[in-house]
Amino acid sequence: MLQAKILAENANRSKSEFLSNMSHELRTPLNSVIGFADLLREESFGPLNEKQRKFIDNISTSGKHLLRLINEILDLSKIEAGKMEFKCMEFSVKEKFDEVRNILFPVFSKKKIKVEFEIEEGITTIYSDEGKFVQILYNLVSNAIKFTEESGRVRVSARKTEDMLQLSVKDTGIGITEEDLMRIFHPFVQVDSFSTRKHEGTGLGLALVDQMVKLMDGEIHVFSQPGIGSEFICMIPLIGHDREQKRL
Ligand code: ADP
Repeated sequence: MLQAKILAENANRSKSEFLSNMSHELRTPLNSVIGFADLLREESFGPLNEKQRKFIDNISTSGKHLLRLINEILDLSKIEAGKMEFKCMEFSVKEKFDEVRNILFPVFSKKKIKVEFEIEEGITTIYSDEGKFVQILYNLVSNAIKFTEESGRVRVSARKTEDMLQLSVKDTGIGITEEDLMRIFHPFVQVDSFSTRKHEGTGLGLALVDQMVKLMDGEIHVFSQPGIGSEFICMIPLIGHDREQKRL
């Protein structure tokens, strides 16, 4: 049995390594497709007619969607292969809140959703992996916006509890049933095919958030009621440590 377990683990690791290498190979030509589509769209090399502009827009949008999918698969397979690294440094929580707010501003202002960011007094900096922190925050806030109807509200807050930062993203959106709460952290799970078809998504965001938070020695909890809204709470250590992940 032990031998079978070792064989299965090795096979799983080979699969993750294969995916990780494939994703790298796919990203290079895809970046070139997106880059050239965007260049043509600027019309510096000649004017485009309406059809051409529409088609180039499609190439660029689909390319970006595929790139996101590949990046997320790459991240997930890196975690599975035990190759996800965490590099900690001191950074301002407010700066990261502002960064995510600025990226998502066009999306939530278009949907007329009120997004509030609140940081408890006394929280300035934390020592953690800056990039992963932004990725977690971005995924949760963009989901909150995506699954909230027009004119709804989203509240993002940070509090301190003992040696953890409690990050909460609360929305007044469509909510999630108790049954689905079990599934949403699994890769490629999208509950509401109607709203996810309306807004693009990969079904990988929460799987990644869940894995990253766990690798940070943190926790993630979700509370939700259909028709009322959802709250995702991440507990992230205020002082993390670098990690060269070997295996989970
Ligand atoms: P996606 O790319 O579809 O957003 P995620 O892994 O981030 O993928 O989320 C998985 C699914 O969980 C979503 O498709 C959606 O059905 C559900 N979900 C996530 N966040 C929320 C939320 N704030 N409100 C309601 N449903 C949500």
